[in-house]
Order: sequence, then C-alpha cells, then structure tokens
Amino acid sequence: MTGWDGLKSRSAGAYLGLAVGDAFGASVEFLTPREIRAQHGELRDIIGGGWLGLRKGQVTDDTEMSLALGRSILGSGGVEPPSVAEAFRAWMRSKPVDMGNTVLRGISRYRRTGETQVPESEQDAGNGACMRCLPVALACLGADEAVVAEANRRQSHVTHHNKLGDLGTLTVIRMVQRALLAGDRAELKSLADGLATAEARYRYDGKRMENPSGYIVDTLRAVFQALFATDSFESALIDVANRGGDSDTTGAILGMIAGALYGADAIPERWMSALDQEIGQACVEQAWALLSLSPYMNPTAADRPNFTREPGKTRRNFPDRRWPAD
Ligand code: MN
Ligand code: MN
Repeated sequence: MTGWDGLKSRSAGAYLGLAVGDAFGASVEFLTPREIRAQHGELRDIIGGGWLGLRKGQVTDDTEMSLALGRSILGSGGVEPPSVAEAFRAWMRSKPVDMGNTVLRGISRYRRTGETQVPESEQDAGNGACMRCLPVALACLGADEAVVAEANRRQSHVTHHNKLGDLGTLTVIRMVQRALLAGDRAELKSLADGLATAEARYRYDGKRMENPSGYIVDTLRAVFQALFATDSFESALIDVANRGGDSDTTGAILGMIAGALYGADAIPERWMSALDQEIGQACVEQAWALLSLSPYMNPTAADRPNFTREPGKTRRNFPDRRWPAD
C-alpha cells in the first residue's frame, strides 16, 4: 500500500502491533525457552494466562502506559512532563494488572514531591520507557531529530533517567518513524546497526539472546535479532516471544516496529480477533489522532519544539475511524 492508505495502515499497525505483541508475549513472561517448549511446544496463539493470570487478549502495562502517554499528548498538544506524570498517576490509581519497579518508584516520587523528572541513575536502564514510546513516534513524525530526542527524554525521565535507555529508545522511535514513512527492513537495520556502532553494548550480532531480561540492552538485542531474522509480522513476533524472559515487552516493542513495517493487514486475523476489542479500538483511534498532531501532517508546525499546537486543530482529519482497520 502506498500514500495515504499506507500511512493509515502502518500507523494503526504500529499501535495494534504493540498491543498484540504485549497480549501475545504476556502468556510466557518470565519463562525460559525450554519451559515454553515444555508447556506450549511453540507459542503461536494469544491464550492469556501467564504469571499474571490474564484473560485471553488482555494487555498489560506496556500497552496501558502507552495509551496513558498518548492521552496526555492529545490533551496537552505536546509532550509536557506535568501532564505525562498526571496521566501515569491516574493510570496507577486504576489498579493496573502489572507495574514495573522503576515506574512505581518514579510515580511514587512524583506523588510525594511533584517533580516530573527523576534524577539520572545507572539503575534506570530498564525497558519501561521504551515499551511506551510509540505515542512520541507518532506525534513527532516529521519533526527534527533534536525535537524527537527532547520529546523522548521528557516522557522517559518521568520514571527512567538513563543515557543508555534514552539512546536505545530514541532508536526504536526512529525505526518506527522510518517504517511509517515506508522505509524497508534494510533501512531499519541500518538504524539498529548505527546504534550498535555508537554504543557497543547494543551489538546484537553475537550469541542468540534467549530469556532477555528487562535491561534495555537485552530487550533490544532480542527484538533486533528476531526482526531481522524474519520477514513477516507473524514470524517475527513468534520468534521473539518464544525466547521467553520479558516477553510481553519484547513482544510490545517488536510489535510496534513490525506493525509499522508490515502494516495492520499483516497482523494475523486470529490475533486481531483475540485482542481486547476496547483496547484495539483505543489503539487505532490514538494512532490516527496522534499522527494528525504531528509536524508531518502539519508542515508549518515542524519547528515547534514542544508541539504546542492547540489540540484538535489539525490540517487534516482522518475520515474513517472504524475498527478493525479497513
Ligand atoms: Mn507488561
Ligand atoms: Mn514486561
């Protein structure tokens, strides 16, 4: 698909891919590949369960925090830390099924102090800011690189303040953006390779990453290996989730990149119909609303660093918000 339909399909695909990857991987989170083989053979379906006891098609914090961040961006018209912190606090009050330790610490600190940026820390190199970065990729499509990097730091530092994390997350955002604009797998690989060149800890050409931890480096190694060893949304997600470990989050990150790369129609029907319908609808609506806020869709806003454009005032509205994507 090309042009307008292609961008619609790829942006919806990115958000649905995130949610599908989260719901798919969550069933085997914290299992080893050997345990997954013993219990499931190869995991190929969204089945729920897992250590969280999920309903089939239920998503976890990866998708929910993305939607919270997206609501904040749509509400304030930009990536504004006070609004982001409030959105995360409201999400925390909703009694989420799961929450990472670094996220809990960051939001608790905000509740105590009102500060919307945690101090820089070696311990914050977890994947919790990366798993929720998609709304920034969408809202900042077409923005200058420095603007994208600043928007990413703002959302990340509400809970995670770490240079390694910032760098890896920015690369994921750039990969998603390249894919949204019809970049192919080779172009995404050159971005991942650029990250590995800039920071050797991100080299992913060595040993197969199995049982990846929540450390951003382990997470992205598994994601890149699976993404570049396969040629479809389905095979990439099956590859990464069956590596076990933090599999809902590798699934979510791989899902957002692969969904942007291959488009919404590449997500298998059996996964789309298993996904929680309300979540799926929220994902598609946010994908298009965030995209319509972006400099790509509003060329004159390209040099506004904070996307301070009034919410709702967009040059072009998406005409069709039916779900699933047509
Ligand atoms: Mn999760
Ligand atoms: Mn996880």
